[in-house]
Amino acid sequence: MQIRNCPVCRLNKTRLKYSVDEFRIVTCRECGFVYLANPIALEDEQHNYERYFRSADLPEYSAASSDENIRGAWRINEQRLGWIKAHRQTGALLDVGCGRGYFLEHAQQHGFIVEGVEISRLAGAYASEHLNITVHICSIEKEFNLTGSYDIITLWHVLEHMHNPRAALENVWSLLKPGGILFIQVPNLHSLKFQLSPAARKWRGGNHPRYHRSFFTRASLHLLLEACGLENYADSHLIYRTSDKYLARLAKRVLNSGDLDSFLDIAVFKEQASMFISTQ
Ligand SMILES: [Zn+2]
Repeated sequence: MQIRNCPVCRLNKTRLKYSVDEFRIVTCRECGFVYLANPIALEDEQHNYERYFRSADLPEYSAASSDENIRGAWRINEQRLGWIKAHRQTGALLDVGCGRGYFLEHAQQHGFIVEGVEISRLAGAYASEHLNITVHICSIEKEFNLTGSYDIITLWHVLEHMHNPRAALENVWSLLKPGGILFIQVPNLHSLKFQLSPAARKWRGGNHPRYHRSFFTRASLHLLLEACGLENYADSHLIYRTSDKYLARLAKRVLNSGDLDSFLDIAVFKEQASMFISTQ
């Protein structure tokens, strides 16, 4: 465990918001950001992710998979690519926190030239060996070994895992070509789905503060972007079609509606001030 200052304003003036096992999730009294004050040591982090990827099954990634989770992931990735293709049809795409590379394989099938960044050697090796995708094993928030430049960089549910999301965003920004677009998606602390979940369900699996270190709202994600000097952004709103059942789909639309969406979707444009974005 270590003591951590606010990742946005870097001060250490907090009040406790949640306790989860031994973890303390606090609100910064200076800027309002909600974050994990006592994360696990950085040297233990990679071990944690290796264990995370070792424990999961490895079914084949396809729309017709016998595994419902894989079919759901496929549909989500298809929607993410629809969002990207509303702005860019082709180009060099870097997925940060690419895991086993499912999104990258999907993007490649849509015509993008793809590479990934991943902290887990196991997950990165899967993408390299099974999907033939270039994956850089490194932490984008610390020293990293990338020298390329990209038209599109994606961070799907990654920023909330970072110890230093400001450094991560600044590093990622330096890899984006002029006119490029950064696509960010994070869980939303203000979502109705999160608010309604009982404590035992809020922090299950990958949502546990063993993994998540920042807890974003729309306002606090804007705050972080602006702290990094990234002011040319636009909110979007993806409602995932993850269920074929009408009532479940209806309930999901309600839970995701308006400002109560489960996820925040933001595109940040590099030197494209006049870009127009439609919201869904
Ligand atoms: Zn702060």
